[in-house]
Amino acid sequence: MLRRLRHALFLASMMAAPVWAADCAPVDFLTLPLPQGDDPVVTALRGAYPGLSVDAAGVRLADGSLIPLGEDPGRPPGARLAEPSLREQFHDIYPLAFDLTAREARWHDPGRARVEALFAALYGGSEQAVRAGLKKVAISGKASFLISERQGAACQMRAALAEVAALPTDWAPAFRNVGGSFNWRKIAGTARMSTHSYGIAFDLNADLGGYWRWSNRPEGDAGPYDNRIPADVVQVFERFGFIWGGKWHHFDGMHFEYRPEIILYARLMGQSAPLR
Ligand SMILES: [Zn+2]
Repeated sequence: MLRRLRHALFLASMMAAPVWAADCAPVDFLTLPLPQGDDPVVTALRGAYPGLSVDAAGVRLADGSLIPLGEDPGRPPGARLAEPSLREQFHDIYPLAFDLTAREARWHDPGRARVEALFAALYGGSEQAVRAGLKKVAISGKASFLISERQGAACQMRAALAEVAALPTDWAPAFRNVGGSFNWRKIAGTARMSTHSYGIAFDLNADLGGYWRWSNRPEGDAGPYDNRIPADVVQVFERFGFIWGGKWHHFDGMHFEYRPEIILYARLMGQSAPLR
């Protein structure tokens, strides 16, 4: 009986304390020496995902198939969003400064266009496959998130949360009533998979964040965004490769997702990282 109780307590302690891979070496994508290359899209993808096979034609998958880089011919933004080429994923440049004026331009949504096949290749193409790579990451007992350990995402998240917890800012309200992390689902109102499906996205406190669909504005005219997520919390996540939906015209202020290629591409295109 006592043995069984001890065993149950041992299992509970194992569940409370996630086991980390020994090779977790977090990368600061804002200060990482910029990788070199002729094509910034190829360079950003290679720098973000060292295990990914990327060449001038596109991303080569393990099964021998190719996700072509494609073109960015300046299609209407709705079409680009619905079915982007890899190159179109990079059409809008993500502002690395805490600048919420860029999002005032209609459809300026850097990182919101995604080639689903790329994310399926990076993190898993089914709920079961993604689930097999999830790790629980927590911040000072306040909140926890399920994030994929693939591509180093959970390692990056753990580093970001440790840095947020050490900020002098009152960060705790943003981590109350968090909106969740892994969830195999479509984006509300669309047929596209959410990045929550791949275990790379999480939502902070929805009361502080704000979401364009809740503001009764039409797509393409999302209107003003009243931000209450602390800027230095955003900057810590960006440092570790997470982009923030508060910088999108179609704002999703509670939402962050692991997109180091978007951060690296912004740097390659001349954006400078904010001073710490
Ligand atoms: Zn979200």
